[in-house]
Amino acid sequence: MTLELDDLRVRTLGECRYDSPFAEMLATKKTSPHYVHEDDRVLVDDTVSVLLGRGAPIERLPSLEAAGPRRKVYFDPAATSVGIVTCGGLCPGLNDVIRGIVQELTEHYHVAHIYGFRNGYAGLTRQHRERVVELDLHAVRDINNDGGTILGSSRGDQDAEEMVDTLVELGIDVLFVIGGDGSMRGAMKITKEIDARGLDVAVVGVPKTIDNDLPYTDQSFGFQTAFAQATEFIASVFVESQAAENGVGIVKLMGRHSGFIACYAALSNNDADVVLIPEVPFVLDGPDGLLARVEEHVRRHGQVVVVVAEGAGQELLEQEGRTTDASGNAKLGDIGLFLKEKLTEHLTEAGLPPTVRYLDPSYAIRSVAANAYDSVYCVRLAHAAVHAGMAGRTDTVVVRWRRRFVHIPMRLITSHRNQVDPDGDLWMSVLEATGQPASFGG
Ligand code: ATP
Ligand code: MG
Repeated sequence: MTLELDDLRVRTLGECRYDSPFAEMLATKKTSPHYVHEDDRVLVDDTVSVLLGRGAPIERLPSLEAAGPRRKVYFDPAATSVGIVTCGGLCPGLNDVIRGIVQELTEHYHVAHIYGFRNGYAGLTRQHRERVVELDLHAVRDINNDGGTILGSSRGDQDAEEMVDTLVELGIDVLFVIGGDGSMRGAMKITKEIDARGLDVAVVGVPKTIDNDLPYTDQSFGFQTAFAQATEFIASVFVESQAAENGVGIVKLMGRHSGFIACYAALSNNDADVVLIPEVPFVLDGPDGLLARVEEHVRRHGQVVVVVAEGAGQELLEQEGRTTDASGNAKLGDIGLFLKEKLTEHLTEAGLPPTVRYLDPSYAIRSVAANAYDSVYCVRLAHAAVHAGMAGRTDTVVVRWRRRFVHIPMRLITSHRNQVDPDGDLWMSVLEATGQPASFGG
């Protein structure tokens, strides 16, 4: 789908009439305020041939609204109450985002109340709404040193009317949703109910995906921490595989639909001999199949390391009895255990009885605290989200695109998935680093 400029315009609740409290702070310190101008936009494409091909004047080219502090804001800061909710699976950096939002709202906007909803959207339901916590600087101090989310999270569908009743009851003006594609769909459902009631409430999303599979974002927060952690596990099975006769190391990494973690982790330490991702189907048998490659590697080097993304090779697994989680996401078959079994069987038959070391470190990776790079990224995303909400942006998410923080309409973040391009330069780098063929039996 080719996007036009109008598809990229974000919604706003109305004219910004209140002076930003930044003005006072910056004036007294005699620093020059970094304000974003209303017409400050970032081009979606930066490839000259693509832009020329559009044949439109520059102001009509698809572009995104820059995020950041505005001179005027929509909500009267001192009379504003906000809510924060984290939903979906864990990802490094959730606490950094919560902390950044609370700090910005407290230190710079001096808002009236900041409420944290417990355990995802469940915390906005009638049953759990009394468990809401008031957040201040003390409550978020040091939380960035821990993984997970201090607010808790959950999956499962909740009633939009009930959730909006809660927002009304607490007098919330801006709801910040930190979560994945499902959470953003949930946020859109809440926005629809807010619109139906004609309420003046903004909903701003901070997209979360450890797999880096959401579009319109350079790299999602927590991704760098995740692949750095994954690298350590690959290094461990490499050492194990070297120490054993016919040593086979298998590491199953996150990546339900997109193999970015597997690719980056494999490139980072170069110990992987085979990388399998959902975007590139593979076959086991035949002269070009995976089993032949593994056998050849073990014969030649005495060991092999296979890195597999959890969503890879699903077409090879038994489809029967496949279930879904509470949010309706299909549960995947276990490709790691499947490979362990198949490689053991094949190498044994080939006269190379293997010693297999299999690691599935997903939970150990998801639950760590963000590294320094991701912490910086998270706090800046959090600031951008606060500025967006205070300026009355709604149905909007904040992302970083081409190294600039920008606003995009929420529906676009769920419109498709960011995936590794099997014909692109990242996959090419993986092939170069591992020496594996472009595909197995493809
Ligand atoms: P991740 O997949 O990265 O773990 P996610 O946000 O996609 O994160 P989900 O469990 O799918 O995780 O969704 C989180 C919350 O959003 C759940 O409470 C779920 O009910 C709600 N949600 C998911 N999909 C929808 C949808 N289509 N409409 C409304 N709400 C949804
Ligand atoms: Mg999801």
